[in-house]
Amino acid sequence: MHNPRTILSHSDLGTLFATLHAEGRHTIGPTVRDGAIVYDRLIGPDDLPTGVVDEQAPGRYRLRHEGTRRFSWSVGPQSFKRWLHPPELRLFRATRTERGFAVEKPEAPPPLALIGARACELAAMAIQDRVFLGDVVDPHYASRRRDLFIVAVQCDRAASTCFCPSMGSGPRVSRGYDLSLTEVVDEAGHRFVVEIGSEAGRALAAKLPLHAATTDADAPERASAEAEAQIARRMPTDGLREKLLGAVASSNWDDVASRCIGCANCTLVCPTCFCTTVDDVTTLDGTHERVRRWDSCFHPDFSYLHGAGPVRSSVGARYRQWLTHKLATWHDQFGTSGCVGCGRCVAWCPAGIDIVAEAERLAEDA
Ligand code: SF4
Ligand code: SF4
Repeated sequence: MHNPRTILSHSDLGTLFATLHAEGRHTIGPTVRDGAIVYDRLIGPDDLPTGVVDEQAPGRYRLRHEGTRRFSWSVGPQSFKRWLHPPELRLFRATRTERGFAVEKPEAPPPLALIGARACELAAMAIQDRVFLGDVVDPHYASRRRDLFIVAVQCDRAASTCFCPSMGSGPRVSRGYDLSLTEVVDEAGHRFVVEIGSEAGRALAAKLPLHAATTDADAPERASAEAEAQIARRMPTDGLREKLLGAVASSNWDDVASRCIGCANCTLVCPTCFCTTVDDVTTLDGTHERVRRWDSCFHPDFSYLHGAGPVRSSVGARYRQWLTHKLATWHDQFGTSGCVGCGRCVAWCPAGIDIVAEAERLAEDA
């Protein structure tokens, strides 16, 4: 695809939002809430973070103010997963009628535009596509994914928890987007270098007040090189599947279990974890609802078998299930690792348990 790079002025960001809204889309993107960057419905550019950067480390996440950039943070606790695979979804509601009952199905969601997706987010979406659009298609995910418009953002800085290069998922945004923005702020002003990633992106770009990129043309490569230079953390992926499967009896599982509190944060923040449970709720007036909710392999009931109890009754067994599925048997199931190196599970683990450090120790133990 011929992809001449163009410039969108910062003052024209509102036109991008207005053009997406004119297509009937809800715009979902980053905003600051409760001291974190979260993804929510945005009305316009004023809802975006301004001059906010994040500091992350195992068990630590903080925001601080610096400069005027809109996208100078890496990833927050949420991923766009919550907009394609909602944490809670009513599958149907049945209500009594005079002649029996009426079944109400969920309304079709509006078409969405995701703003600010990083390379690791795009890689996570590609993994979830394999999960939900494979041999068995999840109609709820499919209906949200079908008309999605993605405005990606090129990372120009990385958190200390990021390790996307070793997972082959970043930091350069290279596929899976409609438009990509690289933010540039210097004495010449505040602007975005725009790259086109699809025909839908090309059609939308034609409606924007863009002008030719001249000296900024290599900004995406410069930004991603800057981000990559900041990433020291590396997952030891070489032979990792075999090493982890050879370490099922390692004493390291007991060691991590002595620190892990089984809170499930790591699975809830992970952009690729997909497990759900289904609750049926009947009220006294005879209304019946079936609701699908995110579940976690860290919950004792997750592996509960009638008559036998939980198959994985210890925290160590549950951590082993999570880590070996994510980094080893996910390859057998979906032909890819289940990890994109976003580092969320590292920052949001209250015990500061670091998936890279644990994988390194287990690989040495194999
Ligand atoms: S396992 Fe951790 S680092 Fe890997 S994708 Fe999930 S949250 Fe991100
Ligand atoms: S590894 Fe950390 S985030 Fe995951 S369940 Fe254990 S304590 Fe919670």
